[in-house]
Amino acid sequence: MREIHCEQIKAAVKDCVLKANLELPGDIVIALQEAAEKEESPRARSLMKIMLDNAEMAIQQQMAVCQDTGLVAVTICMGQDVHIVGGDISEAVNAGIRDGYREGWFRQSVVSDPLERINSGDNTPAVIHYEVSAGDHFSITVFPKGAGSENMGQLTMLKPSQGLEGVREFVVKVVKEAGGNACPPLVVGVGIGGNMEMAAYMAKKALLRPVDRRHPKNELAALEIELLGLVNQLGLGPQGLGGESTALAVNIETYPTHIACLPVAVSLSCHATRRSSCEL
Ligand code: SF4
Repeated sequence: MREIHCEQIKAAVKDCVLKANLELPGDIVIALQEAAEKEESPRARSLMKIMLDNAEMAIQQQMAVCQDTGLVAVTICMGQDVHIVGGDISEAVNAGIRDGYREGWFRQSVVSDPLERINSGDNTPAVIHYEVSAGDHFSITVFPKGAGSENMGQLTMLKPSQGLEGVREFVVKVVKEAGGNACPPLVVGVGIGGNMEMAAYMAKKALLRPVDRRHPKNELAALEIELLGLVNQLGLGPQGLGGESTALAVNIETYPTHIACLPVAVSLSCHATRRSSCEL
């Protein structure tokens, strides 16, 4: 049994919080550069150049990539042979969030109660997911997500007879309705199958996959490429001001479902798609 101390978890979460908010992931930077090179519209090209300059300045000046430093989703993937010592694992994660947001001077956007709406003052609690499997591994992924893009996500319970065509129509509809509100160019996360909550979780999980990596199943990889083409034909472009670069990628994750169900969730992530992972 491998022991991991809560102090290690807290320190690792803090480091991930700082990295995620200060440095756009390399795959997103490259995708923005490639989209800017391919883009026909001078305004769209110029907007993506500003986004890239902004990402560079965030690193140089150690300032957040975007003012909305988000509600943080944390995924802990751990082996069942890991024993957490020195406290409560969820409290350690939240302590790391608290320390990272204070040290980075990042905006604290979490309200403790969705109806009373009083700011918790330290950007906690995070939304924490635990995935437990065999072994003694332990990894942490920190995914801060702003409300501009989060508010534009949607979920639908399709009839199985609506099939692939229903999935296509729904994904394109969600991106179209989001317009410029989700700050495109987007990463489009699509969760297909499971039940309501699993479809939503799959859509979020899809956003954690680098945009240059297609789904390992050939038919889903082909669907990702097809959907990317369809959403880019919408012409929304960067910040919804026109152009071909509405999305950088469509990432799909699936899960087994009921014979009478076809849930589909779409989670949109903005040009400031931020994530950071580490292993202990
Ligand atoms: S959607 Fe993204 S880029 Fe736009 S304000 Fe929110 S966090 Fe920032």
